[in-house]
Amino acid sequence: MKPVSAARPGFPLRMPSDTGKPDATKKIAASARNTEATGLKQVKHALQKRSLNAITGIGLDSLAVRARMVQKLAAQGLTDSRVLSALSQVERHRFVDSALVNQAYEDTSLPIGLGQTISKPNVVARMLELLVSRPGLQAGLGRDGKLGRVLEIGTGCGYQAALLAQLATEVYSIERLRGLHDKARENLRTMRIANLHLLFGDGMLGYAKGAPYAAIIAAAGGEALPQAWLDQLAVGGRLVAPVQGAGGSQALVVVDKTERGITQTLLEAVHFVPLKSGTS
Ligand code: SAH
Repeated sequence: MKPVSAARPGFPLRMPSDTGKPDATKKIAASARNTEATGLKQVKHALQKRSLNAITGIGLDSLAVRARMVQKLAAQGLTDSRVLSALSQVERHRFVDSALVNQAYEDTSLPIGLGQTISKPNVVARMLELLVSRPGLQAGLGRDGKLGRVLEIGTGCGYQAALLAQLATEVYSIERLRGLHDKARENLRTMRIANLHLLFGDGMLGYAKGAPYAAIIAAAGGEALPQAWLDQLAVGGRLVAPVQGAGGSQALVVVDKTERGITQTLLEAVHFVPLKSGTS
């Protein structure tokens, strides 16, 4: 086991884009100045809150920055409330290297090591929305409005897996690189997400033990969709994955499996890392 990530810095108390906005410390100072008016009780409360944030590393500022990220996504047309709520809760800054923490809530993909990248929030939100928000699915959702079992190919740093765990009853996430599988486990350890199962293996084979899946999502693109994914998709289920076309460019593909067969829809161009077979 790796040591507890005590060295991992908390979210910066102040983001570059926050300039001009009062940070937690200033708020405390302001309320301290107004002690007579607000009463000692309130100042104490603010201080308690401040030290709690310092202990947990979950700054109010990180919540605010995430809320801004979600607002921007909503303005871009991503409107599913379950997806936006998950994005506002999962702390993306915990999944990237400390040197990149300041960029964690920008709409950009970021390196996560071993030549792989965490997708930009816009693309993550788009793919999740395609899974949970579609005509006819409502009847297929559980009583809590969640998807059933979901398979993710390409755990990477574990960020999208944490989001999926909020949208589905069970999530199986496979990674072929041991280094990233371990990293995701470490990133997710303190979150204790009971319905998320991290697997090390070749995701091109799917994960038959968890099948059939209500949804399958891939974060890496190959030339064709592996047959195992189509086989392991439940009737009524949906698969979303990048697929490489002629010339090497990728596009998002949506596959719906119905009793009448399979329908494929080609969507916008995307840029994902390649889907590779075997483990390493
Ligand atoms: N969803 C991830 C994105 C990671 S990038 C995140 O939130 O961080 C895509 C990942 O797919 C890479 O880590 C890559 O190693 C992995 N990958 C590629 N081919 C794979 C395969 N056949 N099985 C499992 N993982 C694979």
